Amino acid sequence: MSTVPEIMPVLFLSHGSPTLPFDNVPARDFMMRLGAKLPRPTAILCISAHWEAAAPSVTASASPSTIHDFYGFPQALYDLQYDVPGDPALAQRIAKLIEAGGYNALLSSDRGLDHGAWNPLMLIYPQSDVPVLQLSLIHHGKTGDHIALGRLLAPLRAEGVLIIASGGAVHNLRAVEWGGRTPPPDWASAFDAWLRAQIESGDFEALGDYRAQAPDAAIAHPSEDHLMPLFVALGAAAGQLPAAKGTLIHGSFTFGSLSMASYAWGL
Ligand code: ZN
Repeated sequence: MSTVPEIMPVLFLSHGSPTLPFDNVPARDFMMRLGAKLPRPTAILCISAHWEAAAPSVTASASPSTIHDFYGFPQALYDLQYDVPGDPALAQRIAKLIEAGGYNALLSSDRGLDHGAWNPLMLIYPQSDVPVLQLSLIHHGKTGDHIALGRLLAPLRAEGVLIIASGGAVHNLRAVEWGGRTPPPDWASAFDAWLRAQIESGDFEALGDYRAQAPDAAIAHPSEDHLMPLFVALGAAAGQLPAAKGTLIHGSFTFGSLSMASYAWGL
């Protein structure tokens, strides 16, 4: 682990199935090795697909609980706990940054960490020694709203805060083949490749308009929740610049069509 650099990277992780900690797949190995490749953060701010609120909301508990927000999975998953500290003072700082951008920000003292956050984080930071906060998505927010929200978070990167957006690059639960190891269907590969090309060229305009421009967008994302964290990452990566280029740091599919593609900016 190196010391905190001037600017921390920003990550977008595809978290896949809640069973990831138990699945012997390349994406799990990638996450288990990821922590050692990152500069040591003072705190982690996670934007998960699994938390939307009317106004941007920040977890403000000193010891956030582990939320098991999934149904019908093996008991072993419900027994997992990720006991990390929170950081109430940082939560206030984040709320102030968001309010300075013209939003109404809320502090949530009783909200814990959903599996979009703790599931990958328990693989990346198994020592549970880095404080974790979550920031909600904006319910009904558009891609541009989330890029704008992300831009407000950019100053945190100079304060040792690792911003991790957690969603899914291709996420259609109706098309998932649970337990299957079939190759991804063409529509999933096509959307995944398009997304990578735009992220690596830093084309924020195309990304923000992905619903119209990307191949098979509505099949890859019947609902937008799992792609929306990406736009917060884009904003945080660019800050006051118009755009920023990201890098693919992992690419694989699980259960057929579920892309586990993950990206970094500034790493
Ligand atoms: Zn999810």
